[in-house]
Amino acid sequence: MWKQLRKRDSTRSLAIALFILVSLVVVSFGALQSSARSADWLAQNQPRWQTAWANPTNYGDRFAKDVYGQTVSNAPIVVLHETVASASSTIRFFQTPHPNEDEQASYHALVQRDGTIVYLVPFEKRAFGAGNSVFVSAQGYEAVKTHPKYSASVNNFAVHFSFETPPDGNNNGNAHSGYTAAQYRSIAWLVAYTRVPDSRITTHKLVDRSGTRKDPRSFNINQFWRELHRYQRSARLQPSSSRLASDLKTPITDRPSFSVGSESSPGLRDLGHSADSDSGLDGLHSSSPNGRTERRDRAVPSAPQA
Ligand SMILES: [Zn+2]
Repeated sequence: MWKQLRKRDSTRSLAIALFILVSLVVVSFGALQSSARSADWLAQNQPRWQTAWANPTNYGDRFAKDVYGQTVSNAPIVVLHETVASASSTIRFFQTPHPNEDEQASYHALVQRDGTIVYLVPFEKRAFGAGNSVFVSAQGYEAVKTHPKYSASVNNFAVHFSFETPPDGNNNGNAHSGYTAAQYRSIAWLVAYTRVPDSRITTHKLVDRSGTRKDPRSFNINQFWRELHRYQRSARLQPSSSRLASDLKTPITDRPSFSVGSESSPGLRDLGHSADSDSGLDGLHSSSPNGRTERRDRAVPSAPQA
């Protein structure tokens, strides 16, 4: 009888184990399929786009360790900006080699008035979009110091997307006529594509610690959420906050040549140790006198390390 019981037990255990195994396979296959379906749907619905890769002096690698040697593992955030200049002059600035660290600046992509996405820096690279900055999350203050000379910033784990400012906003004012419906749709598509969850989407104004950034001005947050959630629903997206910023992939396969800037710019420092700068954007953002950087603003304390 004991023997029989043991036998029945072991048969039952085997059945349970098999059931769990099959369920796991089914669930993970389903998740894979659904993730592939989301990516496919989004890829098929990508707004019009083009590339205008920034000069490699204006961006760098995402660091695995901060300047103190501590491993960093922040999940990505999205930071929204506006150009405070025409798209063409902004692109021209990013494509100009800036061996001087104080002048380096970039976004990952900007969206023109007609909704065209312009890819500028590969997502897996670190764009110099928000110099002295901190993201406040449920985990606390998130910022990474990657250069001994400069303030900690969110750049190591941020994806920077920018609206092209309307002509009546190319000044220091507090507001302008706003962005086009096509721009909201394209920015929302970009953000949906990153799969960054809503809780990790922010603006330059909100992460800025220099006290000078107010972009994107005249931003209709409700219109943005509506468009983003429409994409998330249509693609049946599951935003993911468990991955690393280095996992981010640009939606297109076209890639810039990485050798151009580093070979043609004499005296260029190692790109792998480049500064977190967006000082060059001062001219574009027109928010500080003489286009000088406020990155060195010592009045604003550095953020705690993430
Ligand atoms: Zn900005």
